[in-house]
Amino acid sequence: MPDVKLLWDIQMLDEQRKELESKLKEGELLEELKSLKNLIEAGKLQFKNLKEEYLKLKKELHLKEHDSESIGEQIKVIEQKLYGGVITSAKEIEKNSMKLEELKARLKQEDDVALALMEKQESMRLQLEALGAELAEKTESFRRLHGSYLAIQQNYRSSLAQIPLMRQKLLDMVETGLWQKYLEMKKKFSDPLAKVEKGTCQKCRVGVSFHDLRYLKEGKDLVHCSHCGRILYWEK
Ligand SMILES: [Zn+2]
Repeated sequence: MPDVKLLWDIQMLDEQRKELESKLKEGELLEELKSLKNLIEAGKLQFKNLKEEYLKLKKELHLKEHDSESIGEQIKVIEQKLYGGVITSAKEIEKNSMKLEELKARLKQEDDVALALMEKQESMRLQLEALGAELAEKTESFRRLHGSYLAIQQNYRSSLAQIPLMRQKLLDMVETGLWQKYLEMKKKFSDPLAKVEKGTCQKCRVGVSFHDLRYLKEGKDLVHCSHCGRILYWEK
């Protein structure tokens, strides 16, 4: 009585091996990892550029503050001259008063500019903070995804590593004549065995005759599909 079940189990193992090999090669999650990495790189660049701009603005603001201080000093000096009784001539008083007004107007202008810069700086700071948080989150996602990727790959590899011994154990039990027939069929089909379910060959989907079905269930000899020619396997 030919033990087709052994052949079937071997064929299943071979298919499993092929599937595992292709999954290993295809690298599940790899595309996702790559696109996440690209996003992180782009985010880092954006952060770096914004930070540079922010520092430039900070410097600019610092200079403005310095300018304001120096104008403030000049104002103080003139005020002292004017109100401290240092100058008494009407012409000098008028000249200094004009200078004082001019300086005060400039100070106001400087302060307005500085205020606008400060507002801009604050909005940039918030933007930087948000970008930084986003980057940290993406980096963490990447770390986790990469861990899953490695675990999945490792899983495929260890499943794959178990197949040869399992296959050999089955092969040792198959009678030589049956194995030769299988190998002969293998030249024609990558999957020489077809399972019969609901009276139908599961490879070519053509119905198996009642006669063949009964013969198959008796299990005395090999039964081939009348349509595709594969060896039929019926699971008891
Ligand atoms: Zn068939």
